[in-house]
Amino acid sequence: MSDRGVCWLAGQVVPLEQARISVTDHGLLYGDGVFEGIRFYGGRALLLGEHLRRLQDSARAIALTLPWALSEIESAIAEAIAAYGQPDGYIRLVVTRGPGALGINPAGCAKPELIVIADSLQMIGDKARENGIRAIIASTRRLPPDGLDTRIKSLNYLNHILARIEANHAGVDEALLLNDQGKVAEGTADNVFVVRDGELRTPPVTDGALEGVTRGLVMQLGREQGLVVRETSLTAYDLYTADECFLTGTGAELIPVREIDGRTVKSCPGPVYGKLLQGFRDCITEQTRGADDRQEQLQGT
Ligand code: PMP
Repeated sequence: MSDRGVCWLAGQVVPLEQARISVTDHGLLYGDGVFEGIRFYGGRALLLGEHLRRLQDSARAIALTLPWALSEIESAIAEAIAAYGQPDGYIRLVVTRGPGALGINPAGCAKPELIVIADSLQMIGDKARENGIRAIIASTRRLPPDGLDTRIKSLNYLNHILARIEANHAGVDEALLLNDQGKVAEGTADNVFVVRDGELRTPPVTDGALEGVTRGLVMQLGREQGLVVRETSLTAYDLYTADECFLTGTGAELIPVREIDGRTVKSCPGPVYGKLLQGFRDCITEQTRGADDRQEQLQGT
């Protein structure tokens, strides 16, 4: 048991700082691999099925054959969570093409690597989460989906990192990326939503958004709460004139935005955001309660 990060690698769970992979891994040399970020609450991974489906799709899209059954990946996640020893945390699941010869050709990479890290992750302080964050629109553009489909959650994050550096230089919390057409795509590691005229709006995946698992849950919660939910192209103007704006992601959870490029968002945290956050928290409570019930059943209480 540990409250420090741990890593499952090749069937062993070790303290995070002891985990090692080969320097010839094409994941390192070329960003050749895919990953998932998954939160666990009450010892159980939230929306695990959705994350594993996206992992499989991302791997298939880059012609990386996963040599593990889903049940083996689930077991590795369960072992990492158990060894981490905390009820709540974050799983980083990485699949690389594996070690191979120098040179870009992946044909010689015979053994993909599975890495499962369990640790804590706080992307944003509690105060910013309550009061809302400040964001800029980055000059770095999201890579066009016809270059690399944005539904693939690959290890290539360099343009997101460049956008993140822009946010750091500007002294704000986050950067939003436009696509090559000037349409809003997403944040550096999160999806973006606006509320306008009582509707919940988010860019379509075809505008360069990752098909976020949290995005999907929030859209479902919105519909259950009677909102009109639309995937529709947004421009900078739509962000500046929104009634509410917020970000979603596994790491981010739900974060309200209070300022974009120096324009104050009308309402932050707004009422629609507040209700969706409550719905999101209820999902987590339900899951945690489920875990407690099972624990009691196991203990015969
Ligand atoms: N966009 C990008 C670029 C991301 O890295 C993430 C985080 N994985 C998201 C959106 C949010 O996706 P999810 O809700 O599945 O974590």
